[in-house]
Amino acid sequence: MMIVMKAGATEAEIQSVIERIESVGAHAHPSRGEEVTVIGAIGDLEHVSRLGLEGAPGVSQLVPILKPYKLASHALRHGSPSVLDIGGRKIGGEHFALIAGPCTVESRDQLLTTAHTVKSAGATMLRGGAYKPRTSPYAFQGLGTEGLRLLAEAKAQTGLPIVTELMDSRDLEPVLEVADVIQVGARNMQNYTLLSEIGRSDRPVLIKRGLSSTLEELLMAAEYVLKEGNPNVILCERGIRTFETAYRFTLDLTAVPVLKELSHLPVVVDPSHAPGRRSLVEPLSLAAAAAGADGIIVEVHPQPEEAICDGPQQLRTEGFAEYARKVEAAAAVAGKTAFLEAAAAA
Ligand code: PEP
Ligand code: MN
Repeated sequence: MMIVMKAGATEAEIQSVIERIESVGAHAHPSRGEEVTVIGAIGDLEHVSRLGLEGAPGVSQLVPILKPYKLASHALRHGSPSVLDIGGRKIGGEHFALIAGPCTVESRDQLLTTAHTVKSAGATMLRGGAYKPRTSPYAFQGLGTEGLRLLAEAKAQTGLPIVTELMDSRDLEPVLEVADVIQVGARNMQNYTLLSEIGRSDRPVLIKRGLSSTLEELLMAAEYVLKEGNPNVILCERGIRTFETAYRFTLDLTAVPVLKELSHLPVVVDPSHAPGRRSLVEPLSLAAAAAGADGIIVEVHPQPEEAICDGPQQLRTEGFAEYARKVEAAAAVAGKTAFLEAAAAA
């Protein structure tokens, strides 16, 4: 149930509604918009209905949320998008994030070269995996804590916020020391204990859509984080399994406007993992930005031929600045503000 407050509702009226919701054991999730405050009441609907909140001071109307996801739903924020602030870089609404970096952290030189290149080109955040979900247990599994240490060094040198994957809640503590955004990989999208654990921290989280997951399942994954009190969730489309075999996964760009219809959360697109080929990364990035994505998370490497993983799809550091300019122009088509110059100077 959503309780929409009147435009002029006072703080005392808002607090009183919150207290009444909580008095019946339900959870109140206030969302303060520019004009109105909306309070999501999550819990036993019957108990909340019996409170008689219609007509209470400051209350405009009660609206049921019909979707199975409540806190992730578009209705919760009355149609206004969530804007997240990640170390001073905004994402959502008119703000576009360009998240770039290697698939995995391989060495100090590889990471720092990439970090400085993407920073000076105007990327807003640095990605890089220290814990890697690999299809083969015999493949490189990531540098682990040493990778995290290198990411911390890259952040100290460039000021770029770090996006890195957490695969196992036993690694939460060291990851929290470095990550500005915790990435939940496609293969972990339905790891509900991991999502809940991250939900109990307040760290922003980027949830990648599972290889065969519906958008509703992705939104339910987000709901697990939101339910624990962490409002900082970013959704990520990264390609799904279809019958097509000409490339690795089908990047579902329809998901971008549809997720925005269904949810207030920012939506980013990963144009690297779906095609698995460098030549397709730029066209997919431009299409995603023009379709209204709130950001791109893309793989970049100084020498992709020597990369330990995902070499064929990683953009070269050389040429990244030109790529970034094209992405900025495509994002402008969808109404996003220019970001490269400010990010490079930050
Ligand atoms: C990644 O971003 O490094 C990654 C492994 O992606 P995904 O979980 O989408 O396969
Ligand atoms: Mn990768």
